[in-house]
Amino acid sequence: MKVAETFAECRSLTEGSIGLVPTLGYLHEGHLDLMSRAKVGNDQVMASLFVNPLQFDEVADFDAYPRQFERDARLMKQAGVDILFAPSVEEMYPIEPVTRVVVGGLTESMEGAHRPGHFAGVATVVTKLLAGLQPDRAYFGKKDAQQLAMVIRLTVDLSLPVEIVPCSTIRESDGLALSSRNIRIPAGDRDRAARVSKGLFAAAELAASGERDGQVLERAALEYLIGIDVEYVALAERATAQRLATLDRPAFLATAVRIGGVRLIDNVWLEPNGTSDRGTLLRSTSILYEGVN
Ligand code: AMP
Repeated sequence: MKVAETFAECRSLTEGSIGLVPTLGYLHEGHLDLMSRAKVGNDQVMASLFVNPLQFDEVADFDAYPRQFERDARLMKQAGVDILFAPSVEEMYPIEPVTRVVVGGLTESMEGAHRPGHFAGVATVVTKLLAGLQPDRAYFGKKDAQQLAMVIRLTVDLSLPVEIVPCSTIRESDGLALSSRNIRIPAGDRDRAARVSKGLFAAAELAASGERDGQVLERAALEYLIGIDVEYVALAERATAQRLATLDRPAFLATAVRIGGVRLIDNVWLEPNGTSDRGTLLRSTSILYEGVN
């Protein structure tokens, strides 16, 4: 695996078709799954590791974001990554950027409403990665469903010649969606954290049994979240991230909660015929906790 710190160096290392996996680092099995997907469909896998200051709406969250370069580089190498792009903040933003990519409409609700500036920060850095590295395909997690909708839309709107590949959510054995932030959840709050996916799965079961009313599905998930600080539970159209009253087109049921000082998001993908993608459960403890007491 080659490590490149500049866009130019990274481009000079490419041969054949490139699958890009953008990450903020502190890898878990969700990231590794994206990399194995990229491995199958491309000549080379490129992964980026950059904690992007532009997308953090809370300085405390940016500062607390776990960073372990050696660990991530080792895991990427094991996952078969050919090129690791690890730019400095100065390489990514040589001068204070005054340009922002703003994807209208579909970034205003849910995450957009609760994290001002977040999506413009993500859209800007993703556009820079796609324009600067020119991958053939880029792999994104369904776990960040609104982000994924935004990325697909910006590649269409800006005619970026890349295929965006959505990948299912990987979960801990109790159902909690993997996130680098999970290591910050206090042990006493784990059971509450596991209720988030249980609520979403219960709603997915209701959809499977024929329920199509958005409010009923949202309430089914909310029942599991009593006593938890809930920011939103929303059924949204998958392509536009607009609130849906009825499950009559591809959708996701998404939620954001705060547990033990950690903000968690999760969703299930629902089809109008009642089938769903709830992701995959790990059978053993996540690599997130290796070396963490
Ligand atoms: P992050 O480093 O959290 O920004 O995530 C980098 C990529 O991994 C994004 O495309 C995420 O949607 C994806 N991702 C994060 N968590 C998971 C997960 N639990 N399962 C699958 N993909 C994920």
